[in-house]
Amino acid sequence: MRPSRVRLLLAIAGVYFSSSIVSSALAWDAHGHRTITRLAIDGFVASAGAAAPLPDWLTTESARAQIAYQSSEADRYRGTRSNYLGHENNPDHFLDVEDLATFGLTLSTMPPLRYQYVAAMAVARHVHPDGHKPHNPRLNPTGDQEWPGFVAHAIAEHHAKLTSAFKSVRTLETLNDPARAHQLDMARANVLVHMGHLSHFVGDSAQPLHTTRHHHGWVGDNPNGYTTDRGIHAFIDGTILTIHGLSYDSLKEEARFETKVDAGDPWRDILSYIQRSHDLVEPLYMLHKSGQLTQDPGKPFIAERLLDASSMLAALYTSAWNASTPTDKDVKDFVFYDSPAKAQPAPGMGK
Ligand SMILES: [Zn+2]
Repeated sequence: MRPSRVRLLLAIAGVYFSSSIVSSALAWDAHGHRTITRLAIDGFVASAGAAAPLPDWLTTESARAQIAYQSSEADRYRGTRSNYLGHENNPDHFLDVEDLATFGLTLSTMPPLRYQYVAAMAVARHVHPDGHKPHNPRLNPTGDQEWPGFVAHAIAEHHAKLTSAFKSVRTLETLNDPARAHQLDMARANVLVHMGHLSHFVGDSAQPLHTTRHHHGWVGDNPNGYTTDRGIHAFIDGTILTIHGLSYDSLKEEARFETKVDAGDPWRDILSYIQRSHDLVEPLYMLHKSGQLTQDPGKPFIAERLLDASSMLAALYTSAWNASTPTDKDVKDFVFYDSPAKAQPAPGMGK
């Protein structure tokens, strides 16, 4: 029976499906996201400092704890029931790679700019209306089931926002103006916010079930008899980390930060990273089916996912930092557009 038919019958029976239950995708529990974040900060401190020393405020235990907390904020958004927030936020947590094909796309041909990607899919659906997952606005009011997902775009966008946040801090530190102390405080807080957000989506992508249509159990043809239990998702998000005792402390000695990211345009590196996770979807189901996921072979498998995420995140942090050095013009422009003495924006500016 098609999922839409099941949902329709359940809706008639009065069973309400929130979008988070249907699509859903919390990915690693907060513990997993914190683990990835703390490992990545170690890698960031080790690699970025060589080019341009990181400021002390960014590497304190307090800052690390705040970034680690912030790395689950995008999941906390789900606790507020709002179609506006769900529509914007929910699809950023996953990419069902197989479903790109129904729009004539692949990972490598997917447009890197979010709205061009949406436009390409809308056109494909209009030209070839058959073969697309049906979308029922009544059963999925947030509309987060309409598209394959946006996690690649979320990573690229948050990387750019972090680069901007770093640049603002470094500009204000260059100005070193006591009258701007409140601005510097806020700019530093913005860096922590954006480091946390970027961590979330990088972390989600390392969970193979966030890169596949088989996100809550195997769907469709199932010749190998993989589990169809929706619970596999939550099991990977949290339970398996507990079973294997995976944490920052247990992984920090294993962490290697060898991933490289093109600071100018990290898109190709982001796609390679998602592909690595997607390639492990079926091996994950095989380990689950054989029972080995909770045995010795399962531990390095899951550990490697967390370590790949931390290495990728460290590389993105480092590339954002290295791309954020303000030029003299950046500093002058900052003052020009934010001068306490300037009552009105310059002619032609400030639209
Ligand atoms: Zn998430």
